[in-house]
Amino acid sequence: MNQRVAIGVDFGGTNIKVALVDRDGKILGKRATPSDPQRGSDTVIGEMAALASTLLTESGLTSGDVVGAGLGSPGPLDLKAGTIIRSTNLPGWQNVAIRRELSDRLGLRVYLANDANAAALGEFWAGAGRSGGDLVMLTLGTGVGGGVVHRGRLVEGHFDNAAELGHMIVVVDGLPCGCGQHGCLEQYASAAAVARRVQAAIGDGEESVLASQVTAGEPITSQHVAEAAKSGDALSLRIWEDACVHLAIACVNIQHVLNPKYIVLGGGMAQAGAFLLDRVVKHFKDRTWSLCDDAPEIVQAQLGYDAGVIGAAALAWTNQDVHR
Ligand SMILES: [Zn+2]
Repeated sequence: MNQRVAIGVDFGGTNIKVALVDRDGKILGKRATPSDPQRGSDTVIGEMAALASTLLTESGLTSGDVVGAGLGSPGPLDLKAGTIIRSTNLPGWQNVAIRRELSDRLGLRVYLANDANAAALGEFWAGAGRSGGDLVMLTLGTGVGGGVVHRGRLVEGHFDNAAELGHMIVVVDGLPCGCGQHGCLEQYASAAAVARRVQAAIGDGEESVLASQVTAGEPITSQHVAEAAKSGDALSLRIWEDACVHLAIACVNIQHVLNPKYIVLGGGMAQAGAFLLDRVVKHFKDRTWSLCDDAPEIVQAQLGYDAGVIGAAALAWTNQDVHR
């Protein structure tokens, strides 16, 4: 008997990743290609299907061995219609019926979810949360992506926009956000925000070991900030610590709204490991309530950049599409 697989598609602004994933969450084959969304939706969706078909051929499988396909996509999405409404990462894409178009090309049922939600489902199903229990994931990258898994199911919300946790307000009248609000978590605690804030402070004349890099016009990343902070750079440590405080505040708010077993931290900034985790946990303990001990375990993501494709495949394996 042939292996049964699900196809997972992780559609990002930079890359498309497609993988064949078995029932245990193991990747049997994976391919990636630049997204180049300006090529138009027809070409891009066609490429997703072509990659899937190549992977099946390479693995000696046919569409008969596939239980379904899952797609994690930037949003906002209309899950009922199966469309991408629009996305800042996909210029020119408006109301694209991506679920139907991919389904037609693959000849398979396609399950659709927001990309950050798919990653959260991946960590729940095969990563940091695989032992079970409600899970919330924060992906600390360009922004802060969020995903909520409750009783094994993704929480999508009445308007399909649940778990936009990066836009949780953590500072009253704080930094402006591209979403139109002020004081959003992602303005303080995304990998990009941490780098941006250090860069801005250096521009304002603050001293830092990263100053020469910034002056030379070389981009800095959250990893650079973490390394500089570890080596005792006062500016980097202050901005890093501030990010950890705001993450901890977000975790306390999440604790009281959702009371999950796990809060999983993933994305570029989480690669700092204990240097991030230990601080967030400390600030969390300093700030959470004392009425009872219902603190979630704040842990590092385990699937890295594969969380998206594994989670997309998990949509199909666990039959998750709220509006079908
Ligand atoms: Zn915002």
